[in-house]
Amino acid sequence: MSESSPSRAITAVELHPLGGLSTERAREVAARLSRRIGASCRLAEPANGHALLLPGRDQADADALLAALEADPPEDAVRLGVTAQDLAIPIFTFVFGRARSGGQAALVSLARLDPAFYGLPSDEDTLIGRTVRESLHELGHVAELPHCERPECLMRFAGSVEKADLRGALFCEACAARLPDWLRAGRPDQNW
Ligand SMILES: [Zn+2]
Ligand SMILES: [Zn+2]
Repeated sequence: MSESSPSRAITAVELHPLGGLSTERAREVAARLSRRIGASCRLAEPANGHALLLPGRDQADADALLAALEADPPEDAVRLGVTAQDLAIPIFTFVFGRARSGGQAALVSLARLDPAFYGLPSDEDTLIGRTVRESLHELGHVAELPHCERPECLMRFAGSVEKADLRGALFCEACAARLPDWLRAGRPDQNW
């Protein structure tokens, strides 16, 4: 059920800061993501205005945001929306991120990746590291990777931040072999 266009030659990931994400955090996510993938990561202008909230919930509508990111896609880039707002869809209490298999864009929220959300001291390094890993997971879906059963794989489904931390920072060998060049790790030894 893929709708990806084989004619698109992806060479970049275009990071769109959303929902009040600070420029500093957007830059840091883009810099660390760039070190993890073949594509270069460029920053788009922060979007004005507020995302549509789900009815009766103080959470942004993840599917509506993803649809906006997927509209009129650039020829050379996959858009990655990174928002400070909490995200959800009608059937889930929250989502860390959203992407369609073979889709045109990915979306990630920092809200529940921040240790402060769980009453722990803020830790910028943990927050940004989790955001990069969640971004890689969602971009994996864009590259048509399904969820993976291996416990140490980035493509494993994680319903909590503890489980997301447990799956580690890398794609397993089988998933890594399926990655397109734009998502393939450049220098896995790099400290990121
Ligand atoms: Zn997933
Ligand atoms: Zn895997």
